[in-house]
Amino acid sequence: MKNIAILGSTGSIGTQTLEVVRDNKQLFRAFMITAHSNAYLLIQQAIEFLPAYVIICDESKYTEVKEALAHLPIKVLAGYNAIKDHVTLPEIDVVLTAMVGFAGLEPTINAIKAGKDIALANKETLVVAGDIVTSLAKEHNVKILPVDSEHSAIFQCLAGEEANAIEKIILTASGGPFRGKSAAFLADVTREHALKHPNWVMGAKITIDSASLMNKGLEVIEAKWLFDLQPSQIEVVVHPQSIVHSLVQFEDGSIKAQMGLPDMKLPIQYALTYPQRIKTNFKRFSFADYANLSFEQPDMDTFRNLKLAFEAMEQGGNMPCIINAANEVAVAAFLANETSFLAMSDVIESCMQQIAYIKNPTLHDYLNTDKETRIFAQNLIQKMPLKA
Ligand code: NDP
Ligand code: MG
Repeated sequence: MKNIAILGSTGSIGTQTLEVVRDNKQLFRAFMITAHSNAYLLIQQAIEFLPAYVIICDESKYTEVKEALAHLPIKVLAGYNAIKDHVTLPEIDVVLTAMVGFAGLEPTINAIKAGKDIALANKETLVVAGDIVTSLAKEHNVKILPVDSEHSAIFQCLAGEEANAIEKIILTASGGPFRGKSAAFLADVTREHALKHPNWVMGAKITIDSASLMNKGLEVIEAKWLFDLQPSQIEVVVHPQSIVHSLVQFEDGSIKAQMGLPDMKLPIQYALTYPQRIKTNFKRFSFADYANLSFEQPDMDTFRNLKLAFEAMEQGGNMPCIINAANEVAVAAFLANETSFLAMSDVIESCMQQIAYIKNPTLHDYLNTDKETRIFAQNLIQKMPLKA
C-alpha cells in the first residue's frame, strides 16, 4: 500500500489521480490532499477518500473545510506553508505534484529532501530549477517519475535501455486548436477559442499553453532535465491525433514510440505503479478509428513561444525561470481578457531581454528572478494597448 500526497487534488490531474486511487484501493491511499481555494470539491474528496491530511491554501476557507470535516478523523490545515511543511511527513511514500505553476517548486524540493519519490505533473518545477531539483533527487536517491504524457512515453521507451544509447528524443505536440493558423488569425483569438483543446481536457493554464505551444516549450526543458539531455538532442513534431505520445531514437538509428488513446490516467497510474503495470479497463486504441496518423513540423515563426523556450533552454541559467514567470503572468492576463494572444510572446521576449541573466543561480536567485519577472511582466501588460 502506497501513501500518496496529492498536491492539487481538485485540478484536472488531481481528480484523475483520485480516480486511479479509487480504482486501486488495495494499492494506494490518498494520504494527503491539497487545493488552492476550491473548498467545496476538497471537502467532497476528503469525505470519500478519508485522507489523514487535508490542506487548503486559501486561509479564508479554513473554517469552512474544518467544520465540514469535524466529524471525521482528518487533520485540516491551511496555507501554502502547511503544504511545504507537511509533504515531508514520514508516512508519505510518493508526492504527486499536480498544482499549477511555480507554486509547485518549493513543496517538491522539500519532499525530495525528505526522501520522497515524486510523481511529477508540475512541469514548471523542472523548467524553473531543473538543475537544483535533479541534483537534489540524485543526492537523496529519490525517483522523479514523469506524469506528463510525453515524458511518460519517453520513460516507457527507455525501459531496458542504456541512457547513453539515446541519440535524440522527439516530443509530439497536438498543435492545439490553432494548428496551421497564421499570425493574422491569432491576432484576434479570444480566451474562449483558446480554451477549446481538440484532444485533452485540462486546467485553464495548460490549455492556453497548449494553444500557444508554450506547453511544448516547457516540456522541451522538462525533458532536458528528466532525461539529462543536451538541447540538440530534443526535437518537436506536431501530431494532431495525439496517439503517439513521444519517441526516442537510439544510437543505432532505431526509433521507439509509445502509443495509446489520450488519457492522462494511464501516465498517472504508470508513475504510481512503476516499474509494474497493472490491468485497466481504459478504452483501447483501435486502428479502425484512426485511418491516418499524421506528423508535421511545428511552425515556430507563428508560434513564437516554442522558439523562445528553445532559446531559453540553450541560454540556461535563470532564463527558463524568466520565461516561466513571464508566461504565467501573460497567461493569467490573457485569461482575464487583459492582453491579447500574440502579446503573450512579446511579454515573454521582453522579460528575456530585460531581466538580469544569472548563469549559475541558487534557489534564492530563482525565487528572486520569479518575483522580479512577474512585476516586470505585469507592468508591461498594463502599459500595452489591448489590441496591437
Ligand atoms: P488545474 O488548474 O486543473 O489544477 C491545479 C490544481 O492546483 C488545483 O487543485 C488547484 O486548486 C491547485 N493550485 C493552483 N494554484 C495553486 C497554488 N498557488 N498553490 C497551491 N495549489 C494551487 O491544473 P492541471 O491539473 O491541468 O495541471 C496541474 C499541473 O500538471 C500543471 O503543472 C500542468 O502543467 C501539469 N500537467 C497537466 C496535464 C493535464 O492534462 N491537465 C498534463 C500534463 C501536465 P484549486 O482547484 O483550489 O484552484
Ligand atoms: Mg504533456
